[in-house]
Amino acid sequence: MENYALSFENVTVAFGEVEVLRNFSCDIKKGEFVSVIGPNGSGKSTMINAILQSIRTKSGEIYLNGKNNKDYSSKQRAQYAAVVPQVFSTSFAFKAWDVVMMGRNPYLSRMQSETAEDVAIVEEAMRITNTLHLKDRKITSLSGGERQRVIIAGALAQKPKLLILDEPTNHLDIHHTLEILQLVKKLNVEEGLTVFAVLHDINMAARFSDRLILMKNGVNVKTGTIEEIVNEETLKPVYMIDMVVKNNPLTQSLEMVALRKKTDEIKTDAAKVHVISGGGSGAVILEKLKRTGYRVTSGVLNLGDSDYDLCHFLEIPTVTEAPYNNISDEVHRKNVSVMNDSEVIIITDVPIGNGNLKNIEALNEINLEGKKIYVLPSENRDYTEGKKADRIIGELVEKGIAGYIRLNELVEKIEGYSLVERV
Ligand code: ADP
Ligand code: MG
Repeated sequence: MENYALSFENVTVAFGEVEVLRNFSCDIKKGEFVSVIGPNGSGKSTMINAILQSIRTKSGEIYLNGKNNKDYSSKQRAQYAAVVPQVFSTSFAFKAWDVVMMGRNPYLSRMQSETAEDVAIVEEAMRITNTLHLKDRKITSLSGGERQRVIIAGALAQKPKLLILDEPTNHLDIHHTLEILQLVKKLNVEEGLTVFAVLHDINMAARFSDRLILMKNGVNVKTGTIEEIVNEETLKPVYMIDMVVKNNPLTQSLEMVALRKKTDEIKTDAAKVHVISGGGSGAVILEKLKRTGYRVTSGVLNLGDSDYDLCHFLEIPTVTEAPYNNISDEVHRKNVSVMNDSEVIIITDVPIGNGNLKNIEALNEINLEGKKIYVLPSENRDYTEGKKADRIIGELVEKGIAGYIRLNELVEKIEGYSLVERV
């Protein structure tokens, strides 16, 4: 059997009758960075407390470096694994230096005082966590971020092979969150430190970890690579929110954007709105409509168009055409029927050329009775021969069916549910 840094084998923890960790298993390879994610109360901290034996397991076994956790003395365990708990309470105002020096305790026999080596290790741990300048400060006087870095320095002073962190960036601002996770990642990559972290921020977990463990209600829902876990299909049922997952080109990692709780669904009395856009011109409107609870459709958009991507993420039904293709007759017919079904049509300032002219021509083929058309003004909308799009829109404006509106006014109407005047 491979010697894992950390293994849980069917571990169950119960408080009274309630099992808050149920049959939990995982194997963390040496050198891996594995994060545990999951909603509050899913048993993440329980898992870590079980390693520390601060709570008892009902059944199952935990192994550290291939040896049963029960066969370690707490000092021996601390030489292999350092744990940064979710809550670090200090009733005594230790100096930061002394807090970090406590990390050397596992190596000191009783009454033995610290050696020059211990001092050097503490200094180094404080240097890399950027806390050396705080060494004489009382731990109680430090800010949340400073204190957390000192506590991590203490964990590093243990010279562990395995670093276990429980929400190490809780309550920290984004700057300190990144600082801490980048440091941990660096130690992981450069020194081969194995990292097992509870991170409630899915995006941070996705960005820094090799693998994820997804928990809910004490049960391991799924363990896998970032791609296997950070996708809508896997996360939605666990978090019960509407979300989109996309690749962030800046960080090259998958990101989850929470949109809203699953419960406030579409408002059935809000109008059905169809958006004619493309190339990102619909982004603000599409997002606003969807978020405010309208029944939105869009099209025709080419696959790969940025408005198409957005519609896909927002789960807006979209009539689509193949990339770079002109709108075919078949797709056009589908679009006409979708537009017929809507009460409001919004035309963004998307440029109209021969490829997407059919979106405008469709306005002449649908039943316009009771429909309201909003047009965002554009200096140069029409690139077609004979300015066909401008002509069609102009006629509709003249008839009072369509009207020009500025983006901010349109957004106000969307938010005020006043796109259609209802009697
Ligand atoms: P997480 O860290 O994922 O938010 P926890 O492991 O802290 O979740 O808690 C898991 C469940 O166990 C929660 O329902 C919590 O209320 C319960 N729990 C935690 N500690 C105790 C305890 N000492 N006594 C009773 N229930 C507890
Ligand atoms: Mg917790």
